[in-house]
Formats: sequence, C-alpha cells, structure tokens
Amino acid sequence: MEMKKCEFCKKEMPKQENTCPHCGEEQPLMGCIYAVYALLALFIIGAFKSCFFG
Ligand SMILES: [Zn+2]
Repeated sequence: MEMKKCEFCKKEMPKQENTCPHCGEEQPLMGCIYAVYALLALFIIGAFKSCFFG
C-alpha cells in the first residue's frame, strides 16, 4: 500500500485515502485544482482571442 504524509499532522496515511485516519482532516487536492484552473484560463483566453481578433 502506498503511503503519503498528512498535510495537517504529518503522519503517514494511505495514499488513496482523502481523509486522514489520525486527525480526521480532509487532504487538499491543490495540484489537481490548479491544473484545472490553468486549463480553464487557457481555454477562456483562447476563446477571447478568437472573438476579438478573428
Ligand atoms: Zn492528519
């Protein structure tokens, strides 16, 4: 089983778990969220460009 460190209590927890079994905090998924925002921003910029500059 792969392990990761809890973002809050720094104890080891199973990688597939989203909630820490030690402190009960939900782990942030920042990497995924930023990737989605970056793609969304690129898509919106692309749409605006094609709107204004043909
Ligand atoms: Zn924890």
